[in-house]
Amino acid sequence: MSNISLHVALLRIFRTTICPIDGKRKDSGQCFCKSCYFALPSKLKHGLYVSALDGDEFYDNYLSAMEYLARKGFYVPLVKLPTEAAKIIGDTGLIAALNERKQAKQEGA
Ligand SMILES: [Zn+2]
Repeated sequence: MSNISLHVALLRIFRTTICPIDGKRKDSGQCFCKSCYFALPSKLKHGLYVSALDGDEFYDNYLSAMEYLARKGFYVPLVKLPTEAAKIIGDTGLIAALNERKQAKQEGA
């Protein structure tokens, strides 16, 4: 499984102070901003407390949380974010990595 670029992108996201869902400010080391985090059902919240050292389980949980927030209408596309926030998220490579992952899934890789 080649999830390396996604793993790296998510680790970079933790270090930023921008929420990858809506571009709001978040604390460095947090997955999401407070409004996104508190919108998650408790099962998904708990999934974020799995250590990143546990590998794929953590990343799967993180992606499930992202998908949930997108379904609930929290997701703001990069083009609609302030330039600075869009640049920070863009620089993590997250969007490219997510697209890559989607493609790999479709191809059954
Ligand atoms: Zn947010």
